[in-house]
Amino acid sequence: MIPLARELQDIVGAGWVKSGSSDLLAYTSDGLPGYRRDPLLAVFPGSRDEAIAVVQLLAKRNVSFVPRGAGTGLSGGALADGSVLIGMQRLRRIIELDAENRTARVEPGVVNVHLTRAATPHGLHYAPDPSSQSACTIGGNVAENAGGPHCLKYGVTTNHVLALTVVLPDGVVVQLGSATQETEGYDLLGTFVGSEGCFGLVLDVTVRLTPNPEAVRTMLADFTTIDAAARATSDIVASGIVPAALEMMDAPTIQAVESSIYAAGYPVDAAAVLLIELDGSAAGIEADAERVVALCRSAGARRVEVAADETQRQRLWQGRKKAFGAMGRVSSHLVVQDAVIPRTQLPAVLREIAAVAAEERLTVCNVFHAGDGNLHPNIPYNANDPDESARVHRAMGRIMQACVAAGGSVTGEHGIGLDKLDYMPLIFSDESLAAMCRVREVFDPGRRANPGKVIPVRACREWALAPAAR
Ligand SMILES: Cc1cc2nc3c(=O)[nH]c(=O)nc-3n(C[C@H](O)[C@H](O)[C@H](O)COP(=O)(O)OP(=O)(O)OC[C@H]3O[C@@H](n4cnc5c(N)ncnc54)[C@H](O)[C@@H]3O)c2cc1C
Repeated sequence: MIPLARELQDIVGAGWVKSGSSDLLAYTSDGLPGYRRDPLLAVFPGSRDEAIAVVQLLAKRNVSFVPRGAGTGLSGGALADGSVLIGMQRLRRIIELDAENRTARVEPGVVNVHLTRAATPHGLHYAPDPSSQSACTIGGNVAENAGGPHCLKYGVTTNHVLALTVVLPDGVVVQLGSATQETEGYDLLGTFVGSEGCFGLVLDVTVRLTPNPEAVRTMLADFTTIDAAARATSDIVASGIVPAALEMMDAPTIQAVESSIYAAGYPVDAAAVLLIELDGSAAGIEADAERVVALCRSAGARRVEVAADETQRQRLWQGRKKAFGAMGRVSSHLVVQDAVIPRTQLPAVLREIAAVAAEERLTVCNVFHAGDGNLHPNIPYNANDPDESARVHRAMGRIMQACVAAGGSVTGEHGIGLDKLDYMPLIFSDESLAAMCRVREVFDPGRRANPGKVIPVRACREWALAPAAR
């Protein structure tokens, strides 16, 4: 055992430092199985003080580290290539739930949906709801500025985080933001949210809780062309109605879901379905639902089904939320892509994606947050087949270029991590990337927090020349 492992054991206890390759196997990848990296060690602090002591020891030894929540990330962000992986799952206490002020302070390893469960008796919930919410952690959500189906109406993680306690890579503990919801000075909280583990380790998170809506209507609209589903999406948003969620699934996705244990009763002969949810006051919701049904019909929907009760609503959502899991039946590996385009470009970009898939002889399953133009073109494939892997890689690059050319961006919610490094120059100039390096350096001058992620090192001239931390 290397001396560092012994020192870490002195902090967290013998059972909470993993060093053998079989013990580390589970931590060599995240939700994007095409990437594998070997951590030097993995350490699992059991308290905030232990987490601080771990970071301070690593600072003293000049060792780089990678924070990790549940490892559901889809951009290779939580992979530690020769660094120490700091797993935060043991810090899963809801420290305080203040129903009166509608806030909660939680440890970073709290699973997203557990917070909503704890808030439910108070008529509240935590609004950002990634489809991985039954597994992913609030710390990971903060680092990725995670979104989710209901973020169309309620906003993404950054809109719900009021304050953070963070241990910076040099071991200093700082408070960012304030539970009083006032902002003074520079917005370091906003800078930290979405920093993908490159600015330090989150120790606790104060979030806003949202009142549960009085009424909810959930609809499934069934289309025979993708264009018609895209048209309905634009028409609904243009009508002034703000759905709580507006999700699209195409035919390959519907078929994967319907042949899995998550079957939700979607029409298997549809070219696309829209899952639309409205929420708000009981008084106006019926009229809005009728308008949405009419808009879907006039855009060409064959049928619009309104969930009759909560059981049917949950079933419709299960298919959507478990769609990536259902694709696990199709092939051994899956690339879940993430990009954003202006909503009006949906038909053209989806056509382009279909053309790329045909040319590269691949199947693309589209399941995505249509209301905010956040695409997820997913490609099932076999990563052990070099030819197919090369075609997947090429297709992803072409899809990203098409999204950028349509006025979009290379990620909506999954982050840059390792996977999107090469695409950063598509949207940022050298000067902008260098400015990001300088911001990163303020938090982490030693370049030891999640090294090699988010900004291509070659973009930071000073960084490229300096020796990396171990
Ligand atoms: C089936 C499925 C569906 C998904 N759906 C969505 C979706 O709808 N919306 C969405 O946005 N994402 C989605 N994701 C992606 C993923 O769940 C999110 O990015 C989530 O926020 C990651 O949380 P995690 O706890 O798993 O973090 P990890 O994967 O462990 O880590 C992600 C990043 O956060 C950093 N990090 C983790 N904990 C901390 C901490 N305490 N301090 C500092 N940095 C930290 C890591 O270093 C890494 O860079 C989905 C993933 C899957 C597998």
